[in-house]
Amino acid sequence: MSREYLRLYREFDIEEVKEQLLILGDLSSDCGKCRAIGLDSQSERCPECGTVFKYVASRRIDMHPEERFRIVRRYLEKKPHMIFIDFHDYQKTMGQKKARDFFA
Ligand SMILES: [Zn+2]
Repeated sequence: MSREYLRLYREFDIEEVKEQLLILGDLSSDCGKCRAIGLDSQSERCPECGTVFKYVASRRIDMHPEERFRIVRRYLEKKPHMIFIDFHDYQKTMGQKKARDFFA
């Protein structure tokens, strides 16, 4: 059996994702809820706001798309309970939501 990563599409509550999202950067990570920066990529919980992370996204994938599945695999091998989402999708959806909220 050969186990590989494929992207999938699923409906999410974008506010719930934002409230429990850890965003991986090149050197350190940040909290999607309170924007605290400098977090360890293996953090289970935000040291600033106490959020327990359930979702994870990586900025690095946008810059290095060819490394996408290696980044995801490396992370999920250590944290299989986390839900890895696409950062670009997340950013785009949040942008659209902000625009909608602004004009509402
Ligand atoms: Zn936080």
